Amino acid sequence: MREIITHDAAETVRLGRALGQLAQAGDVILLDGDLGAGKTTMTKGIARGLGITGPVKSPTFTLIREYQDGRLPLYHMDVYRLENGGAEDLGLDEYFDGDGVSVVEWSEFITDLLPPTYVRIRIARTDSTDDTRRITITAHGGDYVRYEDVAFE
Ligand code: ADP
Ligand code: MG
Repeated sequence: MREIITHDAAETVRLGRALGQLAQAGDVILLDGDLGAGKTTMTKGIARGLGITGPVKSPTFTLIREYQDGRLPLYHMDVYRLENGGAEDLGLDEYFDGDGVSVVEWSEFITDLLPPTYVRIRIARTDSTDDTRRITITAHGGDYVRYEDVAFE
């Protein structure tokens, strides 16, 4: 486990970029945290770290957005709308088993469908009145521990 505090959105993007630079084909990155915690903000940084240059928008309504212009494909998923089921039909395994990098916002809603190994990044406000976020990175199997060792200060 690794804990990092960021003090504004730009710092979270910078951390995301460093994480994205560590990503390898087939990696699965779970992003958990409340609405507005910074999951999509973090994903923008991960995309930059993959060399994706265009805009990264929240896939809240489309559920999945794919980006192909980086070093590896990025599959950005937001399964918030699947809180009450329906994820079985999305073919998530195709993404998790693919050569791209899967980033999943609200993965707690699809626990039954997650692959056996992944890195989980939790983002939490420390105080309701400021921009500080506590970000914890926890490797679950594979060689995801490299994410915990990200160079960042
Ligand atoms: P989520 O995807 O978790 O719902 P978003 O990334 O869409 O959250 O929104 C996070 C909001 O919080 C953005 O408006 C962002 O600018 C703001 N913010 C403020 N401080 C931070 C921080 N330290 N890290 C990430 N986002 C932050
Ligand atoms: Mg989001």
